[in-house]
Amino acid sequence: MAKWVYSFGDGKAEGAADMRNLLGGKGANLAEMSNLGLPVPPGFTITTEVCTYYYDNGQTYPAELAAQVDEALGQIGALTGRTFGDAKNPLLVSVRSGARTSMPGMMDTVLNLGLNDETVGAVADESGDARFAYDSYRRFIQMYSDVVLGVEHHSFEEILEIFKENNGYTLDTELTADDWKVIIERFKALVQEELDEPFPQDPKAQIWGAIGAVFGSWMNQRAKTYRRLHDIPASWGTAVNVQAMVFGNMGESSATGVAFTRDPATGENALYGEFLVNAQGEDVVAGIRTPQNITEAARIAAKSDKPSLETVMPEAFAEFDGICQKLESHYRDMQDVEFTIERGKLWMLQTRSGKRTARAALKIAVDMANDGLITKDEAVLRVGASALDQLLHPTIDPDAKRDVLATGLPASPGAACGELVFNSDEAVEAAAAEKNVILARVETSPEDIHGMHAAQGILTTRGGMTSHAAVVARGMGKPCVSGAGSVRIDYRAETLSVGGRTFKRGDIVTIDGATGQVLAGSVAMLKPELTGDFGTLMEWADATRRMKVRANAETPKDARTAREFGAEGIGLCRTEHMFFDEGRILAMREMILAETPEGRRTALAKLLPMQRQDFIEIFEIMHGLPVTIRLLDPPLHEFLPHTDEEMAEVAEAMGVDVERLRRRAHTLSEFNPMLGHRGCRLLISFPEVAEMQARAIFEAAVAAAKKTGAPVEPEVMVPLVGIKKELDVVKERIDAVAKEVMAEAGVTIVYQVGTMIELPRAALKADEIAGSAEFFSFGTNDLTQTTFGISRDDAGSFLGDYQQQGIIEQDPFVSIDREGVGELMKIGAERGRSVRPGIKMGICGEHGGDPSSIDFCETVGLDYVSCSPYRVPIARLAAAQAALKARQDG
Ligand code: PEP
Ligand code: MG
Repeated sequence: MAKWVYSFGDGKAEGAADMRNLLGGKGANLAEMSNLGLPVPPGFTITTEVCTYYYDNGQTYPAELAAQVDEALGQIGALTGRTFGDAKNPLLVSVRSGARTSMPGMMDTVLNLGLNDETVGAVADESGDARFAYDSYRRFIQMYSDVVLGVEHHSFEEILEIFKENNGYTLDTELTADDWKVIIERFKALVQEELDEPFPQDPKAQIWGAIGAVFGSWMNQRAKTYRRLHDIPASWGTAVNVQAMVFGNMGESSATGVAFTRDPATGENALYGEFLVNAQGEDVVAGIRTPQNITEAARIAAKSDKPSLETVMPEAFAEFDGICQKLESHYRDMQDVEFTIERGKLWMLQTRSGKRTARAALKIAVDMANDGLITKDEAVLRVGASALDQLLHPTIDPDAKRDVLATGLPASPGAACGELVFNSDEAVEAAAAEKNVILARVETSPEDIHGMHAAQGILTTRGGMTSHAAVVARGMGKPCVSGAGSVRIDYRAETLSVGGRTFKRGDIVTIDGATGQVLAGSVAMLKPELTGDFGTLMEWADATRRMKVRANAETPKDARTAREFGAEGIGLCRTEHMFFDEGRILAMREMILAETPEGRRTALAKLLPMQRQDFIEIFEIMHGLPVTIRLLDPPLHEFLPHTDEEMAEVAEAMGVDVERLRRRAHTLSEFNPMLGHRGCRLLISFPEVAEMQARAIFEAAVAAAKKTGAPVEPEVMVPLVGIKKELDVVKERIDAVAKEVMAEAGVTIVYQVGTMIELPRAALKADEIAGSAEFFSFGTNDLTQTTFGISRDDAGSFLGDYQQQGIIEQDPFVSIDREGVGELMKIGAERGRSVRPGIKMGICGEHGGDPSSIDFCETVGLDYVSCSPYRVPIARLAAAQAALKARQDG
């Protein structure tokens, strides 16, 4: 008979940690904790296969399921000495979803299930606390009606608020058992009115309702969106976990909390968490009451006047502390745990690998490797390469003047500055218009994920360090200040007020995720620190990786940054960027306006010394490392003025007739300039340009070699080659100039001439082209554009539709399309090597800084990736991870 249900409890379990595909993450870890002999309330997990069955069979369950659930409920009953549905000695349970990876947007939790008009009395008698029993019942009605029956939470809150107002209460704790009885009647009446059916009294009906709601929520819109954003297949399904209730709200000796075995923000090796006395799980996360610290050290550091768990419940604390250490060494990773203390007795409700900031990930990985808990290779794999971005982002200059408006919690580190927006759609709109925004919300929910993605930083006025905003922002690597309680947000007026000052939508604010401060205006920021743990992990990564990492850089400033970040050379120096400087653009325009080769040479002669000086500086900064310089690539019209006003201005400055300028601009304009007269095609029409650039490169190489005392070996790169002959024609010019310069200087220059592979034809004819090219650099920006026939400049207007409709999963300009563009890269690499074995190959498109694309480049066997300077550390780590993965895959 198929097994659909797995029980756990009392020091044993039918499942284990390695069964997360079947039991979901939560279920597998509950089983594992039981196997470890930890105090876990007994329960059972309905497998993910039931979810798959449910959707494959018209939302019905396998025939054997009902009996297996009954049996498992019986086992919980046997362990707890209770019976589900029994009027005298009722078993109450919680029902929770649990997919393979934790997934916001799914049905979360129903607590106290099994309560009804009858069993509530038994709970009151047994606990000797009628108030507790009726409070639990009303919570159950509210939660169940909301998540299972779809009656909105706020309708219940309204009833409660009105009752409190009429009776002069301000706090929920002031309500008596009799008050709750009145509220319960009103809640039930509301359900009857909304659904035309009474609130279900039969515990069996309740539990099947909750199970159905969990499976139903797998296909709700939020869950679907989350799966799309995180590449989670719908076929995984979710499990359902049913567990005996334990109560953190049975008076002053009861509590509930969440904790991390190490600090999730800094990585410090100290238990870190929050709890509330006399409360149920959702109270901690909801941010309604301010939670207390778990350890005394944390309480002192937070300057909190509320006692720590360590002092109020020392025995439960000591046991909890021991369990946390045991879990961490068992799982060999930092854990995020949930616990409840019921009348002094500790219960563990969950453990899983804890989400952490990049800074914490780094510190934890390095500490654990240094302590021998994990290997250095494992440490390298533990830190998400993209997450390093967080550490490479600025922090607020400690010397900067701060106009502090409020201080909330330092929920996710890094500083961010931007215009205020108050809802997620506006954040997305503003980001699309390339504005930096700070998303300010009272609190966030899974519906805000897109806005949080789009914003530079997130500010909330409610919620603790474990609130939705804090957890999600940390995962995304966004700076976040949560729970800034003194700030008032008015969504309707779109204002934020604090201390008598009011800020409107669009006003600039800065948040400091390291201190929790909210600051007016923009504040000076500092560059990130690259030593310490960061340096250590980078060392380990560098020792592991095979591919080199170079940078795309054309200014001395970028070259310096790249070197600081560990670049091993320049993979792409786009020379055209050097012509846009004031003082140069004029000579460039003269060159373009010239109608004869002589005229062009005269103008180019003005550019030569400037270009040479650029190269000297770059060669000096990069001394000892390879530098690839690409000859002029973009269509010439890019250098000419566009509007009438600019035309007139330029004509006057150049002393030429505006009409002539306009005519030239007109002849140069093309329908598809990116497919037009650009790249090597320009160099073929105007060989003087190639000659001037080659001369600047070689003269600079001679000069820089003299200055630094080390030889400079430039790599000259020809763009947009599709035909071997194109490369041959340009190469002939380059070689001739090299010869001339060597003769003039009386020295030998070692250099290479190579080409970009950025057209499908170039990839297909790479064998022929390799006959002339001494190196290849894959230009995956143009290769993606020309392979798809999609413009790299304006594909954004419809690629979103494509993603939404599942036609493509990822933007191919961000992450390499492995099947199409990637196939061309493989062909190009193979064919190139067939003619010139060992030919040096790299990538210099934007993909060179994208971890998943870097992983692909490893499989193609490229020698290096080249990316923007700020992404160099990310690429170093990603290349190491790719190498480790390739070794694992054998
Ligand atoms: C490319 O096409 O990938 C490339 C690096 O060149 P550019 O972006 O300058 O066209
Ligand atoms: Mg290109």
